[in-house]
Amino acid sequence: METIKVIVAGPRGKMGSEALRMIEKTDNLELVACLDHKYEGVSIRELDELPNLDARIYTDIEVCFQDVDADVLIDLTTPEFGYLHTKTAIQYGIRPVVGTTGFTDDQLQELTDLAEEKEIGVIIAPNFALGAVLMMQFSKWAAKYFADVEIIEKHHDNKLDAPSGTAIKTAQLIQEERQVKQQGHPNEKETIPGARGADFDGMRIHSMRLPGLVAHQEVVFGSVGENLTIKHDSFHRQSFMTGVKLAVEQAVKLDTLVYGLENILE
Ligand code: NAP
Repeated sequence: METIKVIVAGPRGKMGSEALRMIEKTDNLELVACLDHKYEGVSIRELDELPNLDARIYTDIEVCFQDVDADVLIDLTTPEFGYLHTKTAIQYGIRPVVGTTGFTDDQLQELTDLAEEKEIGVIIAPNFALGAVLMMQFSKWAAKYFADVEIIEKHHDNKLDAPSGTAIKTAQLIQEERQVKQQGHPNEKETIPGARGADFDGMRIHSMRLPGLVAHQEVVFGSVGENLTIKHDSFHRQSFMTGVKLAVEQAVKLDTLVYGLENILE
């Protein structure tokens, strides 16, 4: 299998550092550079607790893409920079694999159009854990039979966006099957604003942020005399790396934007 040359944006982050460890262990992936907003010109191996990989850190994306011959950009940063990185990578013909969450619908549409125009493969997945993808698919299936549903997502307290990209994606999949319904009592009143969570097409999404959590979600369906709970837990960020690796290998074969890991699984 041909070696795929990869740039990682956000290499010191919780996800980015895990991606470096995955690349280190993967024969057909080569780390050729990293993008950060600090440590210009420093090699990854000089930073504490990062793998012993000799890849230069760039703080200017344009300089990085002009200097380095790369096939794929893995972006694990923040919504603001993730969007800019993805857009710039498409313009340079480098295929983005994006785990960063929090893009708006307009941004996703713009990136979809740009990828199509440039015929560049892009994979954006709000959750790279295989179990989470199945949890979303099972929820979509259950929504055919249960119109009442609440999503409870739980993450560590450093997360910037709420609700999580996974919760939004789950709600969108449920929406495709669910009979439209405004849930709860018609005269329901929040005595503390936000008590009932976010309203997505009449269903509610609740976001919990606590130290100690990684990424967890429960989708609870209700009907007369029964509840069905579909639950997924990522206890460690390694859980996302099988999906990231798969996405990198698939991105080089694509010429459009694919949103959601389920769309590249067989
Ligand atoms: P994190 O630990 O805060 O890592 C983000 C990293 O990006 C930090 O090292 C940060 O540096 C760096 N950064 C900030 N601005 C940057 C820039 N302009 N250029 C390059 N790097 C920059 O966060 P995380 O938990 O790893 O999560 C990263 C993203 O992945 C988030 O959007 C999160 O929601 C998402 N995520 C996705 C999945 C999935 O399966 N798709 C799973 C988990 C998380 P500083 O710390 O110095 O600011």
